[in-house]
Amino acid sequence: MPAESGSAHCDAMIVGGGPAGLTGAIYLARFRRRVFVIDEGASRAASIPRSHNVPGYPEGVAGGELVAAMRSQAERYGARFAAGCVQTIEANGGGFIVRYGREQISARSVLLASGASDVTPPMPHLAEALRSGALRYCPVCDGFEVIDQRVGVIADSAAGIEEALYLRHFTPHLTIFRAGPALAPDPADRRRLARSGVALVEAPIESIRLWQGRVTVRHGAAQTECDALYSALGLTVHSELGAALGAKVDGNGYLVTDRHQRTTIRGLYAAGDVARGLNQISVAAGGAAIAAAAMHLWLGTPIEG
Ligand SMILES: Cc1cc2nc3c(=O)[nH]c(=O)nc-3n(C[C@H](O)[C@H](O)[C@H](O)COP(=O)(O)OP(=O)(O)OC[C@H]3O[C@@H](n4cnc5c(N)ncnc54)[C@H](O)[C@@H]3O)c2cc1C
Repeated sequence: MPAESGSAHCDAMIVGGGPAGLTGAIYLARFRRRVFVIDEGASRAASIPRSHNVPGYPEGVAGGELVAAMRSQAERYGARFAAGCVQTIEANGGGFIVRYGREQISARSVLLASGASDVTPPMPHLAEALRSGALRYCPVCDGFEVIDQRVGVIADSAAGIEEALYLRHFTPHLTIFRAGPALAPDPADRRRLARSGVALVEAPIESIRLWQGRVTVRHGAAQTECDALYSALGLTVHSELGAALGAKVDGNGYLVTDRHQRTTIRGLYAAGDVARGLNQISVAAGGAAIAAAAMHLWLGTPIEG
């Protein structure tokens, strides 16, 4: 739904319509606040083929289905939505002016729930690989699903070594593939890998192919087949709107928040993958619930008409 140009106003502007933004919208709408959600539509959650660790879904739930249900719940209580990309947020007389496309809305408070994006590995048929579970991004989410499988980890930094060792709890069949020269394990790392039985391919990756639900990684003159390939290439955190307002960002790009999910800017809150913490749906929802409760108190009563 487009905002009315120029004059639109809300109590709480939510940037992002993933689990964090939608939980914030459900809570704030039920607190009888005028809530506006602007979403670009690239939720990490929506890309999950089937999650098995979201509480309340013993058979698992497709990420897209979960996001759609959360949105419909927020709409039921009056949260308003617009598709688009927020370009700027400016401080304005104790509140904010939020601009997206040709529209602008003034907001008394803002919840940044703009998430993060995975750096993707260089391979064709990426979406199909993700759908089939041949390509994965999150061992915390789905390590259980690869128990005893042949698993590869594509890495370009020391974080990939830690990810492979983390996965060792789930499978003994692990191989690390080099995505670049920056992956330079020191002797201590090499000993840890050897002790854990994790193979490290020295030759850089030449190609990655999806073939019949499995992944074939070519390196040098050889190739290795994996049931699943984890990408440990990192995340781009979408904290730039907060950073531009002067909010504190940590060394990994996450917005720093306190126990009420307040950023260092008054009236600006953050939750989900854009804020420091475990990148999980439950954590995103929990953080947004805390933020929404704090925003509601901060907005005060009676509700402005
Ligand atoms: C393949 C995969 C599998 C996963 N599996 C699981 C799992 O099984 N269990 C689990 O708990 N977690 C899982 N995760 C992690 C989970 O998806 C994230 O932790 C969760 O989606 C974070 O929610 P969020 O709302 O913070 O961000 P997101 O869901 O990413 O939503 C952020 C939204 O903000 C929008 N946005 C960003 N910038 C702007 C802007 N400037 N203007 C407007 N909109 C903007 C984006 O387009 C997006 O729609 C998985 C992730 C991936 C990639």
